[in-house]
Amino acid sequence: MGKEILNIHCPQCGAPANFDIVHQVYECGYCGGTVKVEAALEEKKDYRNAQQKKMKKSAEAFSLESASCSGCGATIVFEENEALSKCAFCGRSLVRKEYLYDAGLPESVIPFRLTKAEAQQRLEEWCDRNSRKKEAKHLRSMIPELKGFYLPYEMVRGPVHCRVSCKRTAEVYGFEGFVNDEFVNGSKQLDNLLLDAMEPFDLDGLEAFDFAYVAGQRVKITDISEAEAERRMTEEVSENYRPQLEKMWGTKAIKINTEAKSAVRLPVLLPVYYVSGGDIHAAVNGQTGKVSVRAEKKTYYVTLPWWLKAMVTLLLAVGATFSAMALSGMDLWESLGIAGMLGIFYLIVYLCMLGDFANNSGEIGSYRKIFTSGERTFRRDGGKLVLREEILERKVARPVFLRKLDGKVQPVVYLFRSPKRMMGIALLSFAVIFLPVIVALFLNGFDFARLSLGGSAVWFCIMVPVVPIYFVVFGMARLYDAPWIYTLTEDGGKKRYRKKIEITWKKVVDGLAVVLVLLIKPPLCLAVWFGIASFCTMCYLTAFGF
Ligand SMILES: [Zn+2]
Ligand SMILES: [Zn+2]
Repeated sequence: MGKEILNIHCPQCGAPANFDIVHQVYECGYCGGTVKVEAALEEKKDYRNAQQKKMKKSAEAFSLESASCSGCGATIVFEENEALSKCAFCGRSLVRKEYLYDAGLPESVIPFRLTKAEAQQRLEEWCDRNSRKKEAKHLRSMIPELKGFYLPYEMVRGPVHCRVSCKRTAEVYGFEGFVNDEFVNGSKQLDNLLLDAMEPFDLDGLEAFDFAYVAGQRVKITDISEAEAERRMTEEVSENYRPQLEKMWGTKAIKINTEAKSAVRLPVLLPVYYVSGGDIHAAVNGQTGKVSVRAEKKTYYVTLPWWLKAMVTLLLAVGATFSAMALSGMDLWESLGIAGMLGIFYLIVYLCMLGDFANNSGEIGSYRKIFTSGERTFRRDGGKLVLREEILERKVARPVFLRKLDGKVQPVVYLFRSPKRMMGIALLSFAVIFLPVIVALFLNGFDFARLSLGGSAVWFCIMVPVVPIYFVVFGMARLYDAPWIYTLTEDGGKKRYRKKIEITWKKVVDGLAVVLVLLIKPPLCLAVWFGIASFCTMCYLTAFGF
């Protein structure tokens, strides 16, 4: 058994097949045979049906009871003579009855590797190490009440399709991903973050479920709907990819949608020791011994509204500019004037970037911290628990972006925001603002002494407010609308892809026609000639003075 339960097998030779993200099929590494995604799902359906038959038989050999909580709705299956009167999750009373087998139980299980005494010892150790925390004091008195549960989860492995969108652009980028053994919690009463913090589990411990595992333990039945299970799964997958994608996009303002119809999902029971009472909730991973404890008190945080952040940054920027100029010996009023001008410039830039800030209006929020016993976990060696040499990790596959280029679908890498591209935009806007000055410098042979900036005053008045608006709004959108695209080369490198632009006679003639219309057709041509004449005058005055 073990993690092979999730393997997809080659129909030709029976070896496990790996998923090929680019071609979206499972491919056998030995003989090259392929398995389609639908066939893979079918293979697992067969496994589940066969397993359910065995479980039904196994259920007959045990006298089982079930109990439902009148408060939180938790339903638990256990052996007949088990003493159980209060709900372990909410403390209310339980309604007991005989358990009749139904097909709702998972077919796979990771059995407990820690005894209850060992789990209690792990909690004691946590309390010793965190003796200054209030949680430790309260938790210590509750350790005798710790109980083991097989909790319902869904195990997910397989291909997923994701779509990423960013507020700045209408363009949506799709990518193909692969989920490696993700566990999704199937209980509505339990704190998702608390359970998440005591993961991961070691899949090597996976076994086919048999009711013998219930002996001395309790099995919790899943109580979330199919739709909720799917929502939790896709959300978890999206969140796994989020850090990588936020880095690629250079912003947190992205939305990720995941579709996981092709992934194999198998219900599984995972071993967890759990105790709760009052505001204390603690869990011990029944396989690895990792402890997670929820903070009793909420932690509050304050986020500043975007406009306050913008104002503070603005004042700091203007203040810094002013003091730099004043300190370098500039006239006080003159430096105040320039700092003020720059202030207006910064303000416009901020207002244009509103899109990025607007989604975090100021708020006071709260969350509960989760404390854990750290990444080092345990395994059983002979009769003893020993520290595991390696650290169990959760792996997230790299997203693969596919794109049709020159008629062929191929994997690509996008580059959106990068220092080089941002620099390009900044340089271009600088060049536009100072265009008449640059032209003037060429006219007077770079004679800076004769340069008279007053000649370009009109140009500055128009361009200083317009350029930041234009470049922040359109330039930023362009970063996301037209990313640089790289194709992957055979040797694993990247190569920038550029679309071939064909120049035809027709395009040239059309272009010339537009220019001619602008120059000779009234009334438009009057405005054009006026603009050209004003620009030339400005350049001349800037170059040689009045
Ligand atoms: Zn094969
Ligand atoms: Zn309850």
